[in-house]
Amino acid sequence: MPESSIGLEEQLKKYFGFDQFRGLQKKVITSLLNKEDVFVIMPTGGGKSLCYQLPALMQEGTAIVVSPLIALMKNQVDAIRGISDHDGVAHVLNSSLSKTDVQQVKDDISNGITKLLYVAPESLTKEEYVDFLKGEKISFLAVDEAHCISEWGHDFRPEYRNLRKIIDRIDERIPIIGLTATATPKVQEDILKNLQISDATTYQASFNRPNLFYEVRPKTAQVDADITRFIKQHEGKSGIVYCLSRKRVEELAQVLQVNGIDAVPYHAGLDAKTRVLHQDKFLMEDCDVVVATIAFGMGIDKPDVRFVIHHDIPKSIESYYQETGRAGRDGGEGHCLAYYSYKDIEKLEKFMAGKPIAEQEIGHALLQEMVGYAETSMSRRQFILHYFGEEFDPATGEGGDMDDNMRNPKPQKEAVDDVKKLIHVIGAAGQRYKAKDIVNIIIGKTNAMISSHKLDQHDFFGSGKDKEPTYWMALIRQILVAQYIKKDIESYGTLRLLKAGKEFLKNGKSFMMTEDHTYPENASTTVIA
Ligand code: ADP
Repeated sequence: MPESSIGLEEQLKKYFGFDQFRGLQKKVITSLLNKEDVFVIMPTGGGKSLCYQLPALMQEGTAIVVSPLIALMKNQVDAIRGISDHDGVAHVLNSSLSKTDVQQVKDDISNGITKLLYVAPESLTKEEYVDFLKGEKISFLAVDEAHCISEWGHDFRPEYRNLRKIIDRIDERIPIIGLTATATPKVQEDILKNLQISDATTYQASFNRPNLFYEVRPKTAQVDADITRFIKQHEGKSGIVYCLSRKRVEELAQVLQVNGIDAVPYHAGLDAKTRVLHQDKFLMEDCDVVVATIAFGMGIDKPDVRFVIHHDIPKSIESYYQETGRAGRDGGEGHCLAYYSYKDIEKLEKFMAGKPIAEQEIGHALLQEMVGYAETSMSRRQFILHYFGEEFDPATGEGGDMDDNMRNPKPQKEAVDDVKKLIHVIGAAGQRYKAKDIVNIIIGKTNAMISSHKLDQHDFFGSGKDKEPTYWMALIRQILVAQYIKKDIESYGTLRLLKAGKEFLKNGKSFMMTEDHTYPENASTTVIA
């Protein structure tokens, strides 16, 4: 019986031993087998790889899989080889291969043995490879971690931008499947545009991870002691603690060890042997905790990680979502705790200095979203999902009470007049300013831009000076989530009015707001500066 006439479920069982597809997998695979271009947005752990692996194994020809990291490719190749009789079924093509190895890869492809060919985007630009692939039967092209195409994604890789040109040279008709776990509306748009697959059938899974509990604590001088206490309260459970620097990783791992916690450090500065050893210890449950830089985690598939702690706040919500996504993959408890201090934000800002202006603007805008997340008093899950373009109502949505803010809600107060004031100012100032400018205008704080635009000569200037800047910033965040206004991404965050906002200005009766958290050495003033 030809392979294609066997049901997809049977194929799944045959190759992977799984009984059923998860979520959108079957639909994605069916589309790809129908030669459609496909775009898949699925959270980490959702089962993206199978969406291209299975159709590749089922079809004639070789699927090219573009992936950004050698380690990820190797893991996948090993896994595929494990389920096949022939090692040639999957290959990685990269610059470290000898001439003989490359010839072997080519032979396996020409002989129809290789079903999956993994390549880094840099390798795919090599003339020799492009010329070779042109003459071969290619089933489709998979672009894994497709957000690398976008400057608005968290790991922009300029080489990803050349993919379309290369595909055109190999065979412009081969179907393309793009896959990512992070796609804000802007990143999505960039991916579709850049790969020129605007008609792709898009499958987007929900980003809600209802079993994860989100919490933010102020970062004080006692942070190490606080982390130690937290881990001791979760004795015997697995967790990851992320730090920004290698030095901090080493120091904190030591603190934990001294306190009797089974912890190992992990960062790119350790030699390869130690890294593998420490990673394996964690996977094999010989230690409870890995203290790591973000070098740790890509491709780590440990189902029972019970907590992910961020000693330092990450540089974007995407990164935070990705890193916390490693908790509770088995559906069980997953506590995501982040320590926040505005000083850390300033540190991250400093890292960006010296980069091209556009990159700085993007970095700054992404970081401000992170500040928003940390300081907000609304549902953190709702905040994250809003960021990914997904609506969520904490009162009815799954996991709606799973964060510190929802468990201990701050009192709410009526803010209908202030919301109207805000909407009025944003509109009257011409919908041309970002949140921090609007706050300055409303509290009546002038600066070079404000005076050069003569904003201080309007009667709305200072119309909200009776309230603190933090109050206005909180209200802006809340009306963003309420979809009265939106941030225009192209202009790095200019606030624009939405229909519901204009309507509210006319007829709004009530808006209950909660003030944001304030942090001791925190600098809402810095936000405003
Ligand atoms: P992603 O790339 O979206 O992060 P993976 O492709 O790594 O996710 O899949 C996560 C885990 O789920 C893997 O261990 C994979 O083997 C498993 N998995 C994927 N699809 C299925 C399925 N249909 N049934 C059971 N397990 C699955």
